[in-house]
Amino acid sequence: MDVAKRAIVVGIPGVGKSTIVNKTVELLKKQGLTAKFVIFGSVMFDEALKLGLAKHRDDMRKLSVDEQTKLQVLAASNIKNTSAEVVIVDTHLFIHTQEGYWPGIPESVLKALSPTHLICLEASPKEIMSRRARDGTRSRDPITEDEINRDLQLSRSMLSTLAILSGAPMLLTSNNEGKADETARSVVKGLGINLG
Ligand code: ATP
Ligand code: AMP
Ligand code: MG
Repeated sequence: MDVAKRAIVVGIPGVGKSTIVNKTVELLKKQGLTAKFVIFGSVMFDEALKLGLAKHRDDMRKLSVDEQTKLQVLAASNIKNTSAEVVIVDTHLFIHTQEGYWPGIPESVLKALSPTHLICLEASPKEIMSRRARDGTRSRDPITEDEINRDLQLSRSMLSTLAILSGAPMLLTSNNEGKADETARSVVKGLGINLG
């Protein structure tokens, strides 16, 4: 490939980011491309463990924004050096903190990640609620359908800002129930890569 691709995949908690990013990377590898994915929250959590700030990944959003910012900066500078023909970063546009909605990709993080593509996964509030409820590996905050609708709207406006600042195209992709493979194929297509 002539130019390396660096995609940021976002979407509200439980929409299916990690599932889709995994599948997308597998598809790309089958095409013979070098592809890597990074879960921003995992890199942050490694830093939180080293600093003794959290014992579980879902505890991090309960820290003060100052402490979370410290972890976010460390994670961004670590991820900055990841290279491959395709790098996909799985992360969040905003975090629900005790101090309000806090941006997951402020300008400094956007610069460090320097995306060529912005991909936002979406699903209906009902699908998202049932995915959150089914996934016993995580401790997700209770949320109503109205709140999910508000978060989906906020996601689109934050994504537009990132597209304007970075010049990267933004793709809104539905991750429909039972259709994760299809979603991963649309993500590959959205990266401008043809599956043979
Ligand atoms: P978080 O932001 O909390 O890390 P996430 O967006 O990464 O969440 P996943 O962990 O990938 O979400 O998925 C949440 C749950 O939804 C998982 O149990 C996963 O298996 C399921 N899931 C993902 N995509 C689909 C789909 N298309 N159809 C049905 N279930 C799905
Ligand atoms: P995840 O597994 O994607 O939910 O990530 C775990 C946690 O990491 C999230 O719940 C957030 O607390 C944190 N996190 C992930 N990405 C970011 C980001 N870009 N900025 C700040 N915190 C983040
Ligand atoms: Mg995830």
